Amino acid sequence: MIRYALRCEKDHEFEAWFRSGDDYDRLAGKGGVPCPVCGETRVAKTPMAPAVGRSRDGGAEKKDGGDDKSGEEKVQLTVPDPREQALRAAIRELRQKVTEHADYVGERFADEARKIHYKETEPRGIYGEATADEAKALAEEGVEFHPLPSVPEDRN
Ligand SMILES: [Zn+2]
Repeated sequence: MIRYALRCEKDHEFEAWFRSGDDYDRLAGKGGVPCPVCGETRVAKTPMAPAVGRSRDGGAEKKDGGDDKSGEEKVQLTVPDPREQALRAAIRELRQKVTEHADYVGERFADEARKIHYKETEPRGIYGEATADEAKALAEEGVEFHPLPSVPEDRN
């Protein structure tokens, strides 16, 4: 898994996990990586800006050591931004709400979403998995669906 920091056209920043860099390129090229805030599908990678600090004294304090060229071995550390934690909590809550009242249909997602769209079955909330190709086909047919928000730290 690889994590990218992404930014949508409207300047919302978010993070997403991908199986590989190629996976990101493929999905993003098809609009398969929508912004969790506004749904904008034109997103771009932003450089990861890890908070680099040294903890020689064991403190977790964040320091600006960017220009230090002493050649000493360094570790990358971060103090999580409280806004990020709030966002994760919000995503977790949204995810829970979405899944709470929805049927899990697994890999039949595309079929079920299509049936609901064409009123071949009763309208209801569902969630499951679809391939990027399936998602693209659904979008082209005008079937309404959204990516299930994922919380990075919940992976693994
Ligand atoms: Zn956005």
